[in-house]
Amino acid sequence: MNDAKKSEEKQLGDFIRGRLLFVEKLCEEKKLDKRGTMDAIRDEAMRLAGTPERREFLDHRVFKGVILSTSLLPDWLDKVLLEAISNVLKGRDATLFTSSSDESCIPFEAGRFNAHRQADTVFRMLYAGKAPGDWLTKSFRVLYQKCYGDDALKGLKIEQRSEREILISMDNRHLEKGSPMDCSTILGYLYGSMEKLGAKGIKIRHVRCSTLTASPHPVCDFVVSWSAA
Ligand SMILES: [Zn+2]
Repeated sequence: MNDAKKSEEKQLGDFIRGRLLFVEKLCEEKKLDKRGTMDAIRDEAMRLAGTPERREFLDHRVFKGVILSTSLLPDWLDKVLLEAISNVLKGRDATLFTSSSDESCIPFEAGRFNAHRQADTVFRMLYAGKAPGDWLTKSFRVLYQKCYGDDALKGLKIEQRSEREILISMDNRHLEKGSPMDCSTILGYLYGSMEKLGAKGIKIRHVRCSTLTASPHPVCDFVVSWSAA
């Protein structure tokens, strides 16, 4: 494992809990056997984990333990879980990422699901009474810091380009989970949040991605736009 990426733990507890609740919701919608699906996801996550330490962590902390909303967790965990969930539900050649809210994938839907539930629960205060533009320029910084840490926050730039268009730039390459799959969860989270804020005609595009292999871009740029009504 790359030492530079050996992460400080972040406030990912509620985000990770949301991944498991997302699987439950999908099982209900698709009438899948919950127990069997979760067992398959655990086996796939163990396969993807890569080291005995991580397998031990997955087994004891995640699948046999209790994750609290306030739990501090390493960021590789989300990467492994999302990939395991996608592989089990959609097959190992499933699309793991998207660059537009017009095209969905499992990580996009997992992010969207978390935004919906967190807007009603743990992060309710960050959404209450906020207009979409306010949420994007103020609340999003708080959420981003929880997930990506203090170092990443220094690189977060949010620019209002017009009344209903905002550019968000970030650099997550120093994190192990920084990947196109993770960017897709951000796309989904932004989309789900805009839905909860009552925005109409929401469009989110990931116009430049720094985490794609051999990408020439130093940052990831997301353009969020919405319509007047
Ligand atoms: Zn990206």
